[in-house]
Amino acid sequence: MSKIFKDINKLLPKYVPERIPHREAEFNNLLNIFKPVLDDLESYTHAFIIGSSGVGKTMLARYFERHLLRDKKYREKVYIIYTNYRVEKKPGNLIRKLTSITIPSMPPRGFSIEEMFIAALNAAEKEDKRILMIIDDSDSLFRRDKEFIYMISRVDEISQTQNILSLLFILHSEEPLLNLDPWTAGTLKRNIIRLSEYTYNELIDILLARVEEAFVEGSIPFETVETCADISSTYNFNARYAIELLLNGGKIAEYYGSSEVKPEHIRLARDKVPPSFSVEDLRHLSIHEKLILYSLSKLLLYSNKAFVSTGELEEEYQAICNEIGITPISHTWFWNEIKTLSYFGFISRRDSGKGYRGRTTLIGLPSFSAKFLEDILGREVYRRK
Ligand code: ADP
Ligand code: MG
Repeated sequence: MSKIFKDINKLLPKYVPERIPHREAEFNNLLNIFKPVLDDLESYTHAFIIGSSGVGKTMLARYFERHLLRDKKYREKVYIIYTNYRVEKKPGNLIRKLTSITIPSMPPRGFSIEEMFIAALNAAEKEDKRILMIIDDSDSLFRRDKEFIYMISRVDEISQTQNILSLLFILHSEEPLLNLDPWTAGTLKRNIIRLSEYTYNELIDILLARVEEAFVEGSIPFETVETCADISSTYNFNARYAIELLLNGGKIAEYYGSSEVKPEHIRLARDKVPPSFSVEDLRHLSIHEKLILYSLSKLLLYSNKAFVSTGELEEEYQAICNEIGITPISHTWFWNEIKTLSYFGFISRRDSGKGYRGRTTLIGLPSFSAKFLEDILGREVYRRK
């Protein structure tokens, strides 16, 4: 039996906590937005959760999902489908996920996206059910697949059914919404829930709640929680990072045979854990995102510089694409990928100011060491050759 951990699973990113300090109001807000649909007063609605990394967006959505599923009335009435676009990557995969739940017998291949979509809607309508689709990390969906958004937000035009599809999108910034074409902009209902970054004290409350669930009583002194929050301040009080510090600090304390996790164990964990995301997230990057990160690592590793300009980076990226025989993405797409990588904290962006051969954006690598990325991405990149 561990002297430190009561239930280590409660510290894993996919765990949805019972208590969500400082997000109760946002949860109620979300519930109110969907209430008319749940109470049959409206057939569908759309909502957005927007905020930077580690502010509890995914947690809020999954907490909401669980809340609905725990209620028999809602469970019987609504199909709830949670998807993550960084994992699914293509509109077709989102729709396959939808049909896998609404029509489990439907073969996953052999139909167009629209056919599968309509079939799913018809199946739900036949059962007198509504659908709520949650699309997490949907930034690139808005940038790349606007027609798809138009299709799923305008059900009544393509199918005979009334619109029974509610959508909850999760985004890192509002920017994709500002650049929508007028048709899509006109159909989406803009119920927006913005999650701001946590403060020091808010993060302390979140950590204390998690400590209670995950650790043996008395194994975490308050100072240790303070150290976690303090170190996380460098990363905008990213809750994900703070909880990872607790987890790894706990493991280090255990390794040393200590019966408590001390502030120094958290500091040691800081040295080990890359900020706010894990190597796991690297796996979910698209091939072009991986190629861009790989190019950046190479440039930084061999130049000893802190930053590279976007121009240099794009050139290197194109050269590597040529070398391995992949068509590079267009300049506009390249920019979109740069934005995505920076929202997730893999890279940083800053304006060069005047003087750096004119104005340009500089790209830095605050997440991993360049050597580490070059190794693991390089292996993957050249395997494709
Ligand atoms: P995001 O999706 O915004 O990047 P997450 O929802 O994944 O962030 O949250 C990161 C981690 O922090 C998760 O483990 C989540 O459970 C936890 N977390 C974030 N906010 C809270 C909160 N208010 N209360 C409890 N846990 C939280
Ligand atoms: Mg998330």
